[in-house]
Amino acid sequence: MSVTPTAPQGAVNPWQMALQQLDSVAERLKLEPPIHEKLRHPKRTLIVSIPTMMDDGSEKVFTGYRVQHSLDRGPAKGGIRYHPDVDLDEVKALAMWMTWKCAVVDIPYGGAKGGVTCDPKQMSRSELERMTRRFTSELIPIIGPEKDIPAPDVNTNAQVMAWIMDTYSVNVGYSVPGVVTGKPVSIGGSRGREEATGRGVMITAREMARHWGMGLDGARVVLQGFGNVGRHAALFLQNECGCRIIAVSDSKGGIYNPRGLNVEELIRLTRAGGMVPTYPDGDRITNKELLELECDLLIPAALENQITSANAPNIRAKVIVEGANGPTTPEADLILRDKGILVVPDILANAGGVTVSYFEWVQGRDAYFWTLQEVNQRLERIMKNACDEVWATYEREQVDMRTAAYMVGVARVAEAIRTRGIYP
Ligand code: GLU
Repeated sequence: MSVTPTAPQGAVNPWQMALQQLDSVAERLKLEPPIHEKLRHPKRTLIVSIPTMMDDGSEKVFTGYRVQHSLDRGPAKGGIRYHPDVDLDEVKALAMWMTWKCAVVDIPYGGAKGGVTCDPKQMSRSELERMTRRFTSELIPIIGPEKDIPAPDVNTNAQVMAWIMDTYSVNVGYSVPGVVTGKPVSIGGSRGREEATGRGVMITAREMARHWGMGLDGARVVLQGFGNVGRHAALFLQNECGCRIIAVSDSKGGIYNPRGLNVEELIRLTRAGGMVPTYPDGDRITNKELLELECDLLIPAALENQITSANAPNIRAKVIVEGANGPTTPEADLILRDKGILVVPDILANAGGVTVSYFEWVQGRDAYFWTLQEVNQRLERIMKNACDEVWATYEREQVDMRTAAYMVGVARVAEAIRTRGIYP
């Protein structure tokens, strides 16, 4: 199996991992072989070259991908990431995970993902804008509000969505806000979208801890990744559930303070461009050490392949809530299950983002926008229902929680395919 050169020990190819997860649940659900086989293949894959003028006058050609895994339940939906490790297998896996994610929270979308292999931290704002606009123009034939709707992911944000929306709109000749979600509010974005993934992580942690019989007041939280997901999850867990955030990290390393970190100060520091390990009030630790700290909640909110067969035996969390997509390998899942650690899987735990993306799309279609309170109430309801459903499956089927979430999500997609039939 090929893995990226920077991948941690025990890492596995994400596409192989996604297939393995699907295969094991297909067997449990006794899926008809043609439906299973269809789901093992992405519906549509586009690879494009993105010639981009750099600030020094040279031209660089980046490679971009968009994979639509399934359109069985509605338009394809999923983010676009900018990262040096992006490759086709990663994007295929992330697209498949989006299909299950949308199905598990029962929003009417299929799954997609996009990515560009680049290092956005080494690029200027104008280089990023030119690359984004050229990538968008290459995507025009396959994206659109009824076809495939991109959104932010790792290293992309509302500004990148605004460039995509503008490029698409200028090319078709009128404004099409519904072509992306996660836009700025000034051009049709939804209130609450930016913090939605973090809010969803908090809701799933709270709901699953309640089912599990664990109180969150005073619970010790360790967070890997302090991007959009990690920051908001930390804030909501601290302010709304009374948790103590004892360690956080970013790509440069982490900071640990058993008395609790000041999350607001950390957010100020990182928003101003500072790195987490430079925060003064705590001990510097590596990302490896952070994952192995003793805690109540461990929240990987960075990238895939963080909890692997190499470190799973050393994990000392009671519950893991996956803010990132694909942070735990299948081998690690087995080890964690044997250790009695509850893993709230990505396709449920981080579904708050795409849920508010759906709200954004719905509001745009109605041209009628909701208050933040309305957005949050509806997000609560959808996430809570999904948690209850996954918990009920987990108890009834006596499986781990990832399998339970997959059973709910995959069964919904399979039912859509069964009902529509396979053409011709
Ligand atoms: N990139 C996010 C995810 O992985 C959000 C996708 C969306 O809003 O479409 O769930």
